[in-house]
Amino acid sequence: MFENRHINWEAKPSENGLYVCSRCGNPLFSSAQKFNSRTGFPSFWGHLEENVQQHLLETYGRDRIQLLCRQCGLHLGHLFQDKRTPSQVRYCINSEAIAFQKER
Ligand SMILES: [Zn+2]
Repeated sequence: MFENRHINWEAKPSENGLYVCSRCGNPLFSSAQKFNSRTGFPSFWGHLEENVQQHLLETYGRDRIQLLCRQCGLHLGHLFQDKRTPSQVRYCINSEAIAFQKER
């Protein structure tokens, strides 16, 4: 069974570290890329290197971009347009898909 390492997303806004894939440990996002979307979902405006794979989905006539871990293929969440972020996009991530590693 998975070790329960649930992220308390809103409670620790100032901690620096990395968000890694909860399945394989691949580093996906930096705490510097966090974005408070007020959706309750962990959100980011960018990702680390090439570790996040984008996959275009066509669902119900609408294009959606699915986000996957490049290393193990775990479904992470979706990419949305969002004018509030520095990159104009928002990574909306399932909290079970990522784990937080504090900077040492
Ligand atoms: Zn992974």
